[in-house]
Amino acid sequence: MSEAGPDRCPRCGGAFRCGVNGAAPCPCTTITLSAAQRADLRQRYSGCLCLRCLAELEREGSQPADHPVMRAASR
Ligand SMILES: [Zn+2]
Repeated sequence: MSEAGPDRCPRCGGAFRCGVNGAAPCPCTTITLSAAQRADLRQRYSGCLCLRCLAELEREGSQPADHPVMRAASR
């Protein structure tokens, strides 16, 4: 139960280290996502994403054309 291996990003499948399980501060603290984005991520993925994916989502979040929540509602 106390596995200390690297985490795996559920979005891109890449290995990364989340600060939640370590002493160093998590790099994801530098990423600012909106409340809607965080709620969407929590529904889609279980766990933390790697810094690269979080940075990508942060960029996408600034573009109103790509809104995952709105897209899911129109389905
Ligand atoms: Zn990733």
